[in-house]
Amino acid sequence: MKNMGRKYKKKIPRRPPKRIPSVFQCPNCGKRAVRVEIDRDDNVAKVSCGSCKISVEIKIPPICNEVDAYGKFVDMVYSGEITVEG
Ligand SMILES: [Zn+2]
Repeated sequence: MKNMGRKYKKKIPRRPPKRIPSVFQCPNCGKRAVRVEIDRDDNVAKVSCGSCKISVEIKIPPICNEVDAYGKFVDMVYSGEITVEG
């Protein structure tokens, strides 16, 4: 069987313009695998790394966004407030 005239074009904008990208570099393992999810009901940012599995929930003021939460996360890791299991 032949693939007749079945070129595929290289236009893959499969990234719908959402909000800010919320994947960041992990201060623990160095991979770009940290996700930040903000729970606006509780004003809690859930930060977790898909690589080293570090994860934490951080209380944030309502005005904080993903980037702010990530900044706090980094501070906490560096100051030793977060410990990674495993
Ligand atoms: Zn990590």
